[in-house]
Amino acid sequence: MRKNHFHLPEGVIYLDGNSLGPLPKKAAERVTQTVGNEWGDLLIKGWNEAGWFHQPAVLGNRLAPLIGAPQDSVVLGDTLSIKVYQALAAGLKMRPGRKVILSDTGNFPTDLYMAEGLINLIGNDIELKVVSPEQVEDHVDDSVAVMMLTQVDYRTGRLHDMASLTRKAHDAGAVALWDLAHSAGALPVDLEGCKVEFAVGCTYKYLNAGPGSPAFIYVRPDLADDAEPALSGWMGHASPFAFDIGYQPSPGIERMRVGTPPVLQMAALDAALDVWEGVSMHEVRARSIELSELFIREVENRCPQLKLVSPREYENRGSQVSFAFKEGYAAMQALIAAGVIGDFRAPDVMRFGFTPLYIDADDVMKAVAVVEDIMRNKSWDRQEFKQRAAVT
Ligand SMILES: *Cc1c(COP(=O)(O)O)cnc(C)c1O
Repeated sequence: MRKNHFHLPEGVIYLDGNSLGPLPKKAAERVTQTVGNEWGDLLIKGWNEAGWFHQPAVLGNRLAPLIGAPQDSVVLGDTLSIKVYQALAAGLKMRPGRKVILSDTGNFPTDLYMAEGLINLIGNDIELKVVSPEQVEDHVDDSVAVMMLTQVDYRTGRLHDMASLTRKAHDAGAVALWDLAHSAGALPVDLEGCKVEFAVGCTYKYLNAGPGSPAFIYVRPDLADDAEPALSGWMGHASPFAFDIGYQPSPGIERMRVGTPPVLQMAALDAALDVWEGVSMHEVRARSIELSELFIREVENRCPQLKLVSPREYENRGSQVSFAFKEGYAAMQALIAAGVIGDFRAPDVMRFGFTPLYIDADDVMKAVAVVEDIMRNKSWDRQEFKQRAAVT
């Protein structure tokens, strides 16, 4: 759909855009300009003259349509772990007396770790209840303060039904917090329609803003003036440059800002969002399903060694497909050496992301041929492919 907008290295088929999107060509230019013309020439004046101060909100408004959010409900900054913490803390404050944070075993560990850390800090008998993804709906009851879920499971690609689970949470009087790490830029999301209270996500996966790019947070507009910022930093203050001694949260979503925004990464994000101009998320979803279905069908026909661990029905999957294989780590290293880049998640999951902006059916067929060759010839069975690196 937009392949020529990206720098894609020669000879590589990139099936890991679910983990780190590739470089949009304009992002490289934009960052260079920001460094030279803004940081270099404007120096401190860049905060006003180049609009650095307002970037977190301006880019929030550019991102909002991709996640079904209205204007002025999204702000950028910090990392996703931090945004999870802020949203969870604000959600708990909205339900005093309730003791349970409900999540599932398919959640990404950092989300659960941040919840643990918050609970340790506030005490107060708050409990983190982690059930299997299938059991979540049975555990939504009037003890739950916040239902905190990641919509698409990072390992298997299993997709939660946001509309129905959010309705369940609301029926039980609970607050819904959704992590869109593997949804934003992967499939249509309707935060407004689902009446979700809080949502968070990152921009370096399907949104292609580069390693270390800022995370985002959404607060439902009717709650934004009351949501309590647990991380009460100066950039979320009502008037940061009054330098008051006391904290006074900004009205609206900007209270979820904390400190100085990462200006260079914001420039990369701005250029990455240019690529999304005029792209329909429904179209992206349709193409993503086609590519995933093609990959599953071909791999299952040609590689009996691999076992599908993603949901078979596309309605229940995000934009990635995972296969289990006992020597999955070595097999993925062999694939990467052969130019097909996916990734591996312990204990035995080989993960492949399908990103229609720059991957097409031809890429999928080429990738499958490489997978088949490596499986058939066991070319993964070499010491060099079994040496685990720090990041898998
Ligand atoms: C990728 C991912 C993260 C990463 O958090 P960072 O703070 O950006 O490192 C967190 N949660 C989920 C669900 C993710 O998929």
